Amino acid sequence: MNNLNEAQIALPDSGRSFSPASLISKLPNTQPSIFSAMTALAQQHQAINLAQGFPNFSPPQRLIELVAMYMQKGYLYHQYSPVQGIMPLREQLAKKLALLYQVQVNPMTDITITAGGSEALYSALTAHVHHGDEVIIIEPAFDCYRPIVTMNGGIPIVYELQQPDFRINWQQLGQLISPRTRVIMVNTPHNPTATIFDANDWAALAKLVEGTNIIVLSDEVYEHLVFDGQPHLSLLSYPALFQRGIAVFSFGKTYHGTGWRMGYAVAPNYLSHDIQKVHQYNLFAVPTFLQYAIADFLDDQAAYLSLAAFYQEKRDFFSAALSNSRFQLLPSQGSYFQLANYSNISQLPDMDFVKRLTIDHGVAAIPVSVFYSNPQPSHLIRFCFAKTNDLLEQAAEKLCKI
Ligand code: PMP
Repeated sequence: MNNLNEAQIALPDSGRSFSPASLISKLPNTQPSIFSAMTALAQQHQAINLAQGFPNFSPPQRLIELVAMYMQKGYLYHQYSPVQGIMPLREQLAKKLALLYQVQVNPMTDITITAGGSEALYSALTAHVHHGDEVIIIEPAFDCYRPIVTMNGGIPIVYELQQPDFRINWQQLGQLISPRTRVIMVNTPHNPTATIFDANDWAALAKLVEGTNIIVLSDEVYEHLVFDGQPHLSLLSYPALFQRGIAVFSFGKTYHGTGWRMGYAVAPNYLSHDIQKVHQYNLFAVPTFLQYAIADFLDDQAAYLSLAAFYQEKRDFFSAALSNSRFQLLPSQGSYFQLANYSNISQLPDMDFVKRLTIDHGVAAIPVSVFYSNPQPSHLIRFCFAKTNDLLEQAAEKLCKI
């Protein structure tokens, strides 16, 4: 056998070396994630991290036990699953979607288990956005929407929500539709504004896209976090929209396990088909033992149906604890976020303000301007209240002193 060593594989110096300067970034304007940056800053200054959206508590104990059990169950639970995900999980989800959203989805074809809501969004957009297609994005928007569209050669067309209520004026949004519009992206409950869609929003959207070939991509990762007795209204409940729709969900949000990277996309077979192709060549499939554990745990309806009350209590606890602060809190109808206006405290731009808040006052938050491609001056920051009440109390104590 040939024993290749460096001398044998070294090429003669041709004078033609690889030039890093020739690299052209596909995402020249994309900065490192603000969520990771604020988490790092919080750690550096031992600040309470209400910035990045993740719980400081674990998934339900029974679910952890199921994961451990399936990890021990034999080699098959550690090997590739089918591309779409294991059938028992897809069947459980089809049952859940029928129960919650009165929709019949075919578990054979219409569900793709993905690496979090993020990969579901990535695969959906990559599958359906062609070079030169326009994608309407409603800003402020979760940070991955725009780069995914751009990486696929799509053109983001931005509709900007206006303060203070951040509601969509559908007539104005409709003016952005052109013959090249391929996708409209919506998000309810909304990150970062914590607003939710009502039936009028869905009806107006259905009317806008009627008679077009536009796909509606609905990010519903916070589906269970809707407060004050309001229901979550899903795209899946509207047949006229579901026929052209893709809905995206996240087990990370539902089961307090954002690091598990588990989610799913639901769409009619003719849309799911290509989503699954992209997923196949990117991930192929997500961890098998996690899928089995979640499939079993989905029998426990209370685990997801109790989430709204669980997080509403946290929202109310945090806002009561801030009632003597100089922050003005905006309504939070859903998600685990709370927007706060700090103009009574400082006129600094929000990016500078969150740095000072972290370094000088020991609480990290996210500046709302990062959710815009063309940020307007604003004095809004986002707190995440997916934290134990003692941590929320400590944070509120610090915030009340400012
Ligand atoms: N969409 C929105 C609106 C989000 O806030 C997030 C997570 N912060 C995601 C999608 C991604 O979800 P996941 O963590 O399951 O990838």
